[in-house]
Amino acid sequence: MKITRITTAECQIPLRTPFKTALRTVDSVHDLLVRVETDTGAVGYGEAPPTAVITGDTLGSIRTAVEEFIAPTLTGLDVQELDTVMNRLDRCILKNTSAKAAVDMAVYDLFAQSCGRPLYKVLGGAKGELRTDLTISVNPVPVMVADAKAAVDAGFDILKIKVGKEGLADVERLKAIRAAVGPGVRLRVDANQGWQAKQAVRIITALEDAGVDPELVEQPVPAHDLDGLAYVTARVSTPVLADESVFSPADALTLLQRHAADMINIKLMKTGGIWQALKICAAAEVYGVPCMMGCMLESKLAVTAAVHLAAARSVITCIDLDGPSLCKTDPFTGGPVFEGPVIRMTDAPGLGITGVPGFGEV
Ligand code: MG
Repeated sequence: MKITRITTAECQIPLRTPFKTALRTVDSVHDLLVRVETDTGAVGYGEAPPTAVITGDTLGSIRTAVEEFIAPTLTGLDVQELDTVMNRLDRCILKNTSAKAAVDMAVYDLFAQSCGRPLYKVLGGAKGELRTDLTISVNPVPVMVADAKAAVDAGFDILKIKVGKEGLADVERLKAIRAAVGPGVRLRVDANQGWQAKQAVRIITALEDAGVDPELVEQPVPAHDLDGLAYVTARVSTPVLADESVFSPADALTLLQRHAADMINIKLMKTGGIWQALKICAAAEVYGVPCMMGCMLESKLAVTAAVHLAAARSVITCIDLDGPSLCKTDPFTGGPVFEGPVIRMTDAPGLGITGVPGFGEV
């Protein structure tokens, strides 16, 4: 199954409500789609969101990386020689992890199709169903309380609460949300680098003392401040999850060796795809450190690749794959079934996505 052509298209999907974190506000998904064609007629698909404030990747840089660097390098290679394809993909351009992730997932789509099986089973997985949290954006407290209640009414029993913009005031915010949703809902707190180390310890300790009982606190300090992350991790009993601090497998190893966090959030747009993400899973397994599978603001195509990886690895114990739930519409056909908090795998080969708009006729 040789790669004959790699092309791109854009997709734009409005969000149900604006997505707000300590880093940005966004009201629609505007992503680059990738289509990898082969000499057998089989086609694989991928998607990359331009998350400039986190990955540094823009729509234009992703398109250029795919069209001018990755496509010429991979054209002619055999998808079944996965090791060759992935090493060439990794080396043909530095960084550009979003572009690499889009092509990586399209190649995995084809590889699993060539095996005639769903990707998560080709990767050795058996989880037929996942349960995701839902993100609650940063807003005035009454809005966040109402959003949290609405999410629980819609069946979500794990919420990811975005904070990090107002320091200690976040404690009152989280107390109000806990009081509104009751003790049965798991609250994941994501500060998106919004605190400094000592401030983070003060806030997390206050949350613990107030009985807010967060399941975990994600990326309390700036991405580059590994010492700060380790400082926080050593001083609070709530598990600390590294997100923006870990992109590559090398980042993960450094963090694991320094015991700088209790958990790692794996996102395909940070790692450059499934091939690299599997290395982080392996390293985390060695250290007994559980992982979250997360996503950027992505629609169903990219999230589907993350779903397959999460369904394939037991070290991934937390699922934060709510991209499709945040989108107003779903332009894609096939793939796992998203029903509120439940994501159900299907037996379709590859990623299982069969209809992708924007590419026209082959
Ligand atoms: Mg995060």
